[in-house]
Amino acid sequence: MFVEPTIENGTLGNDKNGWVEVVCGSMFSGKTEELIRRVKRAMIAKQRVLIFKPGIDNRYHAENVVSHNDNSIQSKAVNFANDILLQANECDVVGIDEVQFFDDEIINVVNKLANNGKRVIIAGLDMDFAGRPFGPMAGLLAIAEFVTKVHAICIKCGNIATYSYRRTKSSKKVVLGETDIYEARCRKCFVEGMNEK
Ligand code: ZN
Repeated sequence: MFVEPTIENGTLGNDKNGWVEVVCGSMFSGKTEELIRRVKRAMIAKQRVLIFKPGIDNRYHAENVVSHNDNSIQSKAVNFANDILLQANECDVVGIDEVQFFDDEIINVVNKLANNGKRVIIAGLDMDFAGRPFGPMAGLLAIAEFVTKVHAICIKCGNIATYSYRRTKSSKKVVLGETDIYEARCRKCFVEGMNEK
């Protein structure tokens, strides 16, 4: 389990000491639940927290980061990475969900936030439906101090799943959906599924 930097372990408390945490994984791996868990603990510690998500993801309520188990928390939908920079001035902790949908500018934005002393916690898909690094995620993983990869369970065989297998033949990069369109699969079952297409 990820151990949060805290006042107790000496990494919090200096107002210029920011850093970046990435929580990544496939669909149904619990990324958003982990983001919410960390953010709620920061709130209990009376830190000022803001959570953002890209405007593209409106599968649930437009103003809430909502995970699959209905454990929700207030968030702001923004269209551009720079909007986060403009709105995050007053907070200590910045959470960003579904970060893979932003363009590469999000890497600069996250760096600036951390350089300004903020704790930045981001959650996103590390790979797209074809198993390729998703958008800015590879760059975000490179600049992060802390990386946590969470796993789903393969619905075919029950092994650890790291891939988001798309059940349709569409080759569009972004097709929003849930279990109607996507399955969590392990490497072997993902490759078998892609070969059958
Ligand atoms: Zn499998």
